Amino acid sequence: MTERDDLRDRKRGPPCPFCDASLYKRHCKYVCPQHGVVIDCSDPFR
Ligand SMILES: [Zn+2]
Repeated sequence: MTERDDLRDRKRGPPCPFCDASLYKRHCKYVCPQHGVVIDCSDPFR
């Protein structure tokens, strides 16, 4: 019962450049809960 907490606790990545939400890392990508994948591993910050 800590799904939300788990998501919130997973602030491993940088904040979303668009909405400032905490991105969570999925495989090799940073995913924003609202924008989807915003950063790709092979495409660092751009
Ligand atoms: Zn976002």
